[in-house]
Amino acid sequence: MQDSDLIAVSAAAPAEVSEIDLYQKREKIYTRRMEGFFQHIRLFTGWPLLLGYFLLPWFNWGERQAVLFDLPQRQFNILGLTFWPQDLSLLAWILIISAFLLFAVTNLAGRVWCGYSCPQTVWTSIFMWVEQFVEGTRNQRIKLDAAPWSKEKVIKKLLKHGMWLGFAFLTGFTFVAYFTPARELAASFLHFSVNPMALFWIAFFTLATYGNAGWLREQVCLYMCPYARFQSVMFDSNTLIISYDKKRGEPRGSRKRNQPASEHKLGDCIDCQLCVQVCPTGIDIRDGLQYECIGCALCVDACDSIMEKMQYPKGLISYTTENALAGKPVKLLRPRLLGYILAIAIMTLAMIVNIANREAIELSVLRDRQALFYKNEAGQIENLYTVKLANKTQQAQSYKLSIESELPVVLGGNPTVQLASGEVVSFPVKVYLPSASAASRGAALTFFATNKSNEAEVSSVESRFLMPANAH
Ligand code: SF4
Ligand code: SF4
Repeated sequence: MQDSDLIAVSAAAPAEVSEIDLYQKREKIYTRRMEGFFQHIRLFTGWPLLLGYFLLPWFNWGERQAVLFDLPQRQFNILGLTFWPQDLSLLAWILIISAFLLFAVTNLAGRVWCGYSCPQTVWTSIFMWVEQFVEGTRNQRIKLDAAPWSKEKVIKKLLKHGMWLGFAFLTGFTFVAYFTPARELAASFLHFSVNPMALFWIAFFTLATYGNAGWLREQVCLYMCPYARFQSVMFDSNTLIISYDKKRGEPRGSRKRNQPASEHKLGDCIDCQLCVQVCPTGIDIRDGLQYECIGCALCVDACDSIMEKMQYPKGLISYTTENALAGKPVKLLRPRLLGYILAIAIMTLAMIVNIANREAIELSVLRDRQALFYKNEAGQIENLYTVKLANKTQQAQSYKLSIESELPVVLGGNPTVQLASGEVVSFPVKVYLPSASAASRGAALTFFATNKSNEAEVSSVESRFLMPANAH
């Protein structure tokens, strides 16, 4: 290419260059309130979640908070069961089982978790309800936002954000009450003596809730939630989806009520846009299945209400499957779903056996790191150990420590330990050989901790008793 060509190209270029913004500007979504069959079901799924979340920290189980993740004590109390950091494998089981449960439900019923039970959806619904309560219907809110600032607008906005912050604070407080005893936390607020760390986390979760449910809303589902991105992998042609029946609805268009189809020659969609106006993610389901759809069924209820008014059959937008839409038979039980169910059943059984066989005593023994053995004042070979004992039951217990070995070794002292529920202690113990032995270097040694009030409750740990080769 010659220089003159380059000049010609660059001279022509400015006219064709246009600036492309790589970041899409968010358009505020003004949703219309909608009642209907599926919205009533959502009430039954959302309210128990909310009530459970807010009330659980206030219930006791025995003398303890029913659910308390006590980080300073490093123990998790859940309905009378105490879990320790050593039980983290159980947490891993619970998370894996929950993930498989979500896979199975998604494979069967699509995004029902997102639409009916996800905290982001439930909290956003509460915030939207507050918005509608303070600022009015969809049209009133659009008008209010477009209007210049006035006394009325300022009061409404202050009231809305105040209520949002109040609810967000309750959410943040409750979250921290799962980690700090709820009653103590409430009392510390009343006495203005809140622990600064607790205060920080309450402030953090208050702002996170206010931001997520008040401002970000559908943006969390669209851009932040990983599940939204990979849930389509679990879909198959028998998965329930919310879909618009194109064959029945098209060509869309407005018409007079009761006008015979032979006159307007249109499909059943009257193009009223109600399904778009109620959608919390602002999509048009008539464009086909989209990853933005959280499966809230608002568009189903909206369209059914229109169909009712038009005296057309309901279900122009409905829960259906790809197979049903294509006129093929729908299979409820299919290999992938059965695989998920089998995996969940096996893992749940394994976890129950694991919990049932959990030892009520936690015993660990560490050999002294300074020396392999000592000679005491009586000239006997002596080994030192650090014993750690934890009472994992809900009551105070008394434990007796004992040993067993092929050597005639003796446990120094008479170690009996009293432990409160959940208490952990570490203490040194001596084991010595009273007389010379034929053993060369040492022998295996087993430590036992036995519950004195229930001798069947025993925990044991293997260790070694060491001595010089010429001890005999
Ligand atoms: S609500 Fe129903 S009738 Fe109205 S535009 Fe949506 S699909 Fe068409
Ligand atoms: S398309 Fe329908 S089901 Fe999907 S998010 Fe919008 S209103 Fe909810």
